[in-house]
Amino acid sequence: MDDRLGELLAEGLAGDGPVVVMTGAGISAESGIPTFRGEEGYWTVGSANYHPMEMATYEAYRRMPEEVWRWYLYRRSVCRRAAPNDAHRALVHLEEALQDRFLLITQNVDGLHRRAGSSAARTFEIHGNIDVMRCERDGSRHLIPEAIGEAWGPSSPFTDEARSLLSGCCPGGALARPHVLWFDETYDEENFRFHSSIDAAVGAALLIVIGTSGSTNLPMQVGAIVARRGSPMIVINRDPSPFSEMAERSAAGYFCHGPAGEHLPPIVARLTGADRS
Ligand code: NAD
Repeated sequence: MDDRLGELLAEGLAGDGPVVVMTGAGISAESGIPTFRGEEGYWTVGSANYHPMEMATYEAYRRMPEEVWRWYLYRRSVCRRAAPNDAHRALVHLEEALQDRFLLITQNVDGLHRRAGSSAARTFEIHGNIDVMRCERDGSRHLIPEAIGEAWGPSSPFTDEARSLLSGCCPGGALARPHVLWFDETYDEENFRFHSSIDAAVGAALLIVIGTSGSTNLPMQVGAIVARRGSPMIVINRDPSPFSEMAERSAAGYFCHGPAGEHLPPIVARLTGADRS
């Protein structure tokens, strides 16, 4: 390991606050779940091609709820068929070692951190979870019924049975919505742990940012707070990003340029002492 990276990890461990890890779609790319960058995410409705950043909006859901549900049920099937990878598992080891000093903020809706073994209490799913639906009328959250299945392909039709399964929890039989934060919506504490994430950033002794392009607001705020406080900040990303720029501008920042599965395990081994035993 590079000496500078080792020094920053040691400084973070010696500090007072939590070790905060913040993940984006890049950590799940090695599990086969597409990120929002690139061509594979486009969704076709009739003759129109929609970019994920257009589909993942309340405006799209208001105009074409069944299309947006088809897209989510397809993506949910992709997520359910994927398995956690070495980077997800490394974070489970880090939590086991650090216990209450560990906190995971994830933008991912795929549930892979929880499936790998990260605890519910220390995992903030700040963009929701693709396995959950929410009633628009009373705000209640419910697991999507298993009966909906995991065999949704890009051309699967939205059936009456699906509509009825996704309406079972709402007063008056209204269609529930996916429990995700859309690009034209705002964070809150109740659903998306906004204030808890800001508090974590303010107190963080070390921030590790993994696989995110910086296209969403709360993660950028978390990064900016840590960089401004001068706390150690390690960024792991396959491509340069606003976070890698933050790290390179900060005296206590370090950019690991490459895949999470390669860079994260040795960092976790250093933080847990496993590379010395
Ligand atoms: P993004 O798609 O905007 O960016 C992904 C980033 O990961 C890119 O910077 C890319 O260079 C990097 N990357 C790709 N493969 C990598 C790897 N193997 N190792 C390290 N880095 C890698 O994703 P985002 O920043 O998370 O934000 C977009 C939104 O998309 C979020 O709201 C998120 O909820 C949602 N999303 C979630 C999932 C998921 O749950 N798996 C998948 C796609 C999008």
